[in-house]
Amino acid sequence: MDHIPREFISLLLDKVDLVDLISARLPIKKKSANNFFACCPFHNEKTPSFSVNQAKQFYYCFGCGEHGNAIDFLMKYDHLGFVETIETLARQVGLEVPRTQHQEDKQDTTAPLYAITAEAAAFYQAQLKKSPRAIDYLKQRGLSGTIAKQFGLGYAPAQWEQLLQQFGDTAQNKQKLLQAGLTIKKEDGGYYDRFRDRIMFPIHDRRGRIIGFGGRIIDQGEPKYLNSPETPIFQKGQELYGLYQSLQANRKLNRLLVVEGYMDVIALFQHGINYAVATLGTATTPHHLHQLLRYTNEIIFCFDGDEAGRRAAWRAFEVVLPMMHDELQIKFMFLPEGDDPDTLVAREGKERFEEQLSKALTFTNFFFHHQLQQADLSSMDGRARFTAQALVYIKQLAPGVLQEMLLDELAKKARITAEQLKQQTGHTQSVSAKRIANGRQIKSQTTTPLRLALILLVQHPELAHHISEPLPELSLPAYPFFIKLIEICRQHPHLTTGGLLEFWREQKEEKLLAKLASWELVIPETGVKEEFLGAIRGLTRSAHDQVIQRMLAKAAQQGLSDEEKSQLTQLIADK
Ligand SMILES: [Zn+2]
Repeated sequence: MDHIPREFISLLLDKVDLVDLISARLPIKKKSANNFFACCPFHNEKTPSFSVNQAKQFYYCFGCGEHGNAIDFLMKYDHLGFVETIETLARQVGLEVPRTQHQEDKQDTTAPLYAITAEAAAFYQAQLKKSPRAIDYLKQRGLSGTIAKQFGLGYAPAQWEQLLQQFGDTAQNKQKLLQAGLTIKKEDGGYYDRFRDRIMFPIHDRRGRIIGFGGRIIDQGEPKYLNSPETPIFQKGQELYGLYQSLQANRKLNRLLVVEGYMDVIALFQHGINYAVATLGTATTPHHLHQLLRYTNEIIFCFDGDEAGRRAAWRAFEVVLPMMHDELQIKFMFLPEGDDPDTLVAREGKERFEEQLSKALTFTNFFFHHQLQQADLSSMDGRARFTAQALVYIKQLAPGVLQEMLLDELAKKARITAEQLKQQTGHTQSVSAKRIANGRQIKSQTTTPLRLALILLVQHPELAHHISEPLPELSLPAYPFFIKLIEICRQHPHLTTGGLLEFWREQKEEKLLAKLASWELVIPETGVKEEFLGAIRGLTRSAHDQVIQRMLAKAAQQGLSDEEKSQLTQLIADK
């Protein structure tokens, strides 16, 4: 992203209005001078908790925590990539995105790979039409011609150099085929086709570009499924088969079903379940989950009903746990023994299948189900072990309604009172008390000067221009970050909160910044400047204290020179 000049992005954010952008897509209500509210487009809710601040050019959802500036909103809402978003916004305000050399270079390395995968997909599709055997196979699996076309299914002929001959006419093209993972290099220097005599499933990225293939053997043979290797445009642990088609088929995804194979996804689509995805031969990774959560708040994992399926489900549970929160619905569905999603939906049809989906185990039920399998609740010892084990997981959840529910359920099952359990865990606050603590309200008197200065600066970047004294030297963990913020705000006189955040996109401070931006300060707007300058004075005092402490320590250890002694006296007197 550094290939679009930062100055241009700042200019763009200055011209775009977040409220206009959002109100063109959602019904939004004005609540006070700068504050607008809407029902959150990123999670399901009935009462609006999605707030948009016009002065800050920043949105924040009190329900699910989604937040950001105009770029973030468009990326998430329209499912666009960063560069596409910049282009879209630029078009809206009539600016042209300046291209730098760097981006042209970058395009040159991957663009030919996307081109060759697209050409290969078209080639495989054409070959399918010429292969009655492959067509028969798909028919026998119950797939219609329409669905085969929708997913771009093809066939790789049973020959060693078909693709190579078709596209590998020059050394450069041979290299491209190899880089895209479509051919394999022989020891003697020649090449041969990777996929032979297989049904070909093109794998799309979110934008619909073909990034790789899965190939399934038609008759017997190993391996049954063969995927493209990792290439510059294809990373297995990140992509989800069917996500592109699900996004195409649904304006808003109420839920996503995660299944195991390509054929499952396609069969489900054919029967009207057009919200299914599959991982590409790997277990669910945090990266997958992160992707899915960009589009929906409800995920149903579908597993085989056998022991292997249960184990896979628990692995998925462990990936979900750290990301779990109150607004998220995670369910686990186990198929009847011997069934695949593909066979089940074919036999039962859409409605009955969705009925089964609605009966899937909830996050809570699955958790206790799994824990109880190894527990012995008949003895006190067994119950204690069960409690301890379960707590290891429950403690990983953020405080909230879900955690509270799990604790109550655990208390019931372990036959102790909820109060006892909460005492054991030091978990004594009630939900409502925590709600207030998490309510993101902060009074200026109850926080440190640095934190207050950070919050005020992020929310009112223009404050940077009101500091007349040089900033003190101070050794505190977040202080260098504060100095950097001041610097950027001074360089960009019209910066909004949303614009400021943009400087930290995909950097580790991004989260902290968003948090600072979303705190609600109990300060009247007119007092903001005074509070800020007061906080800066507080910082100067802390810096003095640090010097005094350092000198006192030195005095105790090795003594002070006369000059230092008078400096110390002066410092203490100033205090
Ligand atoms: Zn939300």
